[in-house]
Amino acid sequence: MDEQLTANETFEALRALEQFDREIAGFMQRLAALEPEVMEAEGRLSELGSQAKAARARIEKIDARLRKFERASQAGRETLKRLQQRAKEVQNLKQHTAVRLETDAARRNLEAAEDELLESMQDAEEAGGALAAIEHELEEQRTAYEALKAETGARRAELEAEISVQRDRRQNRELRLDRAALRLYESVRGGRTRQALAPVTPDGVCGHCYTFVPLQRQAEIRMGRRLFLCEGCGIILYPGD
Ligand SMILES: [Zn+2]
Repeated sequence: MDEQLTANETFEALRALEQFDREIAGFMQRLAALEPEVMEAEGRLSELGSQAKAARARIEKIDARLRKFERASQAGRETLKRLQQRAKEVQNLKQHTAVRLETDAARRNLEAAEDELLESMQDAEEAGGALAAIEHELEEQRTAYEALKAETGARRAELEAEISVQRDRRQNRELRLDRAALRLYESVRGGRTRQALAPVTPDGVCGHCYTFVPLQRQAEIRMGRRLFLCEGCGIILYPGD
């Protein structure tokens, strides 16, 4: 029995091979596209983490300042109280003037400390709100990231399974193909995702680059004695419908 495939069978097999290769390339592309999305989400999470850290450091600073002016206000009030007591005990104008000057100075100090305290309290409230917003955003992004990771993992497994199935099918098809035809196909394709086959159109041109195929060659392609490459683009030509 003749094991040689007919030309038409060879063309069919090569077209099937090309179809498998195209599908495998498509799955590989989708697989590669999954990675950047996850990395982008990781980048966002890390950026929010840094923002939260900075916000907490700011709150710590504000709290320290707040405590400092709380103490200063408390001390200022005590000083004033002491001076009021002393004012009651003055015995002459000189003492009276001295107490009054000290009291004025103490009041100004207290006012300054209270202003600073108030400002610190406002800062603390604002910084607390900012941190809460960042933490809320962080929580949302973390949930989205977990979902994306799970989804991506499932999608990756699916795509890998598809690729493996298509590779098996391709290999089965390849086994039944003429070695010379297979080598030609591989060399035209060049290991890339380039198109390797095109039909000769009813007008007698290459279906890929539209270079005219000489009549004699068209006849040979139709008879299918051997494979011919397009003179224009080097693609394998097969008889069109
Ligand atoms: Zn061509």
